[in-house]
Amino acid sequence: MDKEEFRKRGHELVDWMADFMQSKESYPVTPDVKPGEILSRLPEKAPDKAEPFEEIFSDFENIIMPGMTHWQNPSFFGYFPANNSEPSILAEMLMSTLGAQCMSWITSPAAAELEERVCDWLRDAKGIHSGWKGCIHDTASTATLSALLAAREKFSKFQINKSGFTGTEKFRIYASTHVHSSIDKAVKISGIGEENLVRVDVDEQFGMIPEALERAIQSDLNNGFSPLMVISALGTTSSTAVDPIGPITKICKEYKVWHHIDAAFAGTALLLPQFQSLMEGHEDADSYVFNPHKWMMTNFDCTVMFLREPKHLVNTFSLTPEYLKTDLDEKVNNYRDWGIPLGRRFRALKLWFVIRSYGLDGLRTKIQYHLDLTKKAESWINEDERLEILAPVNFNTICFRYRDVELSTIELNKINENWMSSSNSTHKVFFSHTKLDGKYVIRWVIGQTDVEEKHIQQAWVLLQDQLNKTLKTSA
Ligand SMILES: *Cc1c(COP(=O)(O)O)cnc(C)c1O
Repeated sequence: MDKEEFRKRGHELVDWMADFMQSKESYPVTPDVKPGEILSRLPEKAPDKAEPFEEIFSDFENIIMPGMTHWQNPSFFGYFPANNSEPSILAEMLMSTLGAQCMSWITSPAAAELEERVCDWLRDAKGIHSGWKGCIHDTASTATLSALLAAREKFSKFQINKSGFTGTEKFRIYASTHVHSSIDKAVKISGIGEENLVRVDVDEQFGMIPEALERAIQSDLNNGFSPLMVISALGTTSSTAVDPIGPITKICKEYKVWHHIDAAFAGTALLLPQFQSLMEGHEDADSYVFNPHKWMMTNFDCTVMFLREPKHLVNTFSLTPEYLKTDLDEKVNNYRDWGIPLGRRFRALKLWFVIRSYGLDGLRTKIQYHLDLTKKAESWINEDERLEILAPVNFNTICFRYRDVELSTIELNKINENWMSSSNSTHKVFFSHTKLDGKYVIRWVIGQTDVEEKHIQQAWVLLQDQLNKTLKTSA
């Protein structure tokens, strides 16, 4: 493609993108395709000859688009959102145009210094201790794994990095029974082993019980284990339950255990002052992670991690031996040393565009609007006597189900599962589910960038229609 065609196609694509952003709700939320259907429409061999852009783009529209799930559709209510926004998309365009690989300060000074600045902005806006420093990762899974490896190395005085496990380590990791699967994965692949992930009991609101945590740590100490890390959740994936951050931090400090706070989704709510008390007493914790790529209108991928003492991370990941470090290294951040990959995208740019385009006030207004819409949907569900909400609505996620005292949990689970799948099969909405105490509940997450009252009203009408149909067929 020559430079003139690039200009022409670029303009065409920006028009296509603007049209898409205006009409995204007219696309089905989920595609109606069977496994293998898209694959069978793609040629088995890569083309030997160059193909014209028109043909590539027409296949994009005819083969790829019909197989997409539209995460940006305002009626996408499943999982957690992966929001984008116009300023973030424009920044992504610049990032890919510059094509910089931002592994160290010298490989793009502006990228390193902008990363430091936007992380400081977010730290201060979220009420996180001003002595902490931040960095950007691809995902929360990677950030949490990095924190776990840093905790492991701090504990072993960097000996596991050097010589490997001796075979005598008996590390223990603690998290609530509602912890995200990325923690299981980190514990598995860090060499600590799944069997050493201790699942601490939760209270009736699904938050970790600090006394149960302390008992588990004491019992492990008595049995010769080394408590290494506690991972608390500020907003679990299942029901957005909140573990008591302050009390857990206190226990971790007392037993010299690393405290990592996973606020991957709900961390965005800390931009609103009324949520900052959830972090009260976090100052002595060790690390905190949240995903602007979920609820903060920043294209996937973009995870921000804050650390009280980044030196543990740097000492774990740095490949520069002490004697090779230069004066410059002490003055700058080489973010390759703050995580696993050497190469890094210029993700700070999209955060900068998003934060400046909305302003912190604009972000707060958006989040508050989502919370207000959630209150509305919650009141509709509460007014319907056939339904019940099974977890506190701490943010913008409602876990609800159809109830009937005459029916067993198994029968109710089947009805609720059918209700959700018949709703989703309209392709007009998308919900996902979880189980709370064995009970199947539908999760309604209201945090899409452009969700408005009309979308939740339409979804509510659709849910009620589908419930009536489901009850008729199961009667
Ligand atoms: C989404 C989520 C994660 C994983 O996020 P990735 O960025 O996809 O790795 C981890 N923890 C919680 C609480 C989450 O909600």
